[in-house]
Amino acid sequence: MFENLSERLSGVFDRLTKQGALSDEDVKTALREVRVALLEADVSLPVAREFVKTVQEKATGQAVTKSVTPGQQVVKIVHDALIDVLKGEGEPGSLKIDSPPAPILMVGLQGGGKTTTTAKLAKRMKDRDGKRVLMASLDVNRPAAMEQLAILGTQIGVDTLPIVKGESPVQIAKRAKTQAGLGGYDVYMLDTAGRLSIDEELMSQVEAVRDVANPRETLLVVDGLTGQDAVHTAENFDARIGISGVVLTRMDGDGRGGAALSMRAVTGKPIKFVGLGEKMDALETFEPERIAGRILG
Ligand code: GDP
Repeated sequence: MFENLSERLSGVFDRLTKQGALSDEDVKTALREVRVALLEADVSLPVAREFVKTVQEKATGQAVTKSVTPGQQVVKIVHDALIDVLKGEGEPGSLKIDSPPAPILMVGLQGGGKTTTTAKLAKRMKDRDGKRVLMASLDVNRPAAMEQLAILGTQIGVDTLPIVKGESPVQIAKRAKTQAGLGGYDVYMLDTAGRLSIDEELMSQVEAVRDVANPRETLLVVDGLTGQDAVHTAENFDARIGISGVVLTRMDGDGRGGAALSMRAVTGKPIKFVGLGEKMDALETFEPERIAGRILG
């Protein structure tokens, strides 16, 4: 097992007994450790490099305050810099769901947790915000996926749009919009089809649905354990569809959280929620502090 990064950094610095400012050499030694730890946590190389540069600028020549050891001080600088990179604008977990019925478009690859997350989020809006939510599955090629959403809806007490065979995703989106308006719903969620990988057919389908629905939020759901693949998926979806935020699932797994750091740095989009299990209440607001703690170890 690797020692965690906090311990490694403290180790490097606390061996030094120097007082006064952190020397360039001290900082360099520590930053080598930081870089290795980031790469181990599956942060991409360019992001790790950029991050290390930022920390270097902050740490070099900084006076060592009397109350802390140099090691702890560098740990704090790294911790704060991680939070800076991870933090998006606005309240974490906030969604634009004013002016009812507000459409939320859920996008992502198959197996990433899109349908589960749609239901979790619907439950959250219902329970916390007292919103009336309507969910619709647009996965016309996989009847099982449509049924899965209906079953989850029943389980959490959220309505789903009745399934009508033979409709296209765009037709379903239009029906959802009409139904949401007539039924007095606050929010309607469109659970789009997923594919195993990004292909033209998927993208043009999601694009057509987006144009009809004009979503207030377009949330990309990706498996947080897939590391850099999750980041590439986000770049692709954002370039083509335009996403307003990301939900990282399977953060209950043993990934080190590096995908979160790269995600934010590469796409510039906020991570709004994290999935922490299969249960319907296993969805939490994204907390930069928690991920920073996880990366630091
Ligand atoms: P979709 O194909 O993207 O709609 O994926 P699903 O919503 O069907 O999810 C695929 C599997 O991942 C299901 O077995 C879910 O229960 C599971 N899953 C989804 N989110 C999470 C999560 O945050 N943690 C864990 N451990 N499992 C999850």
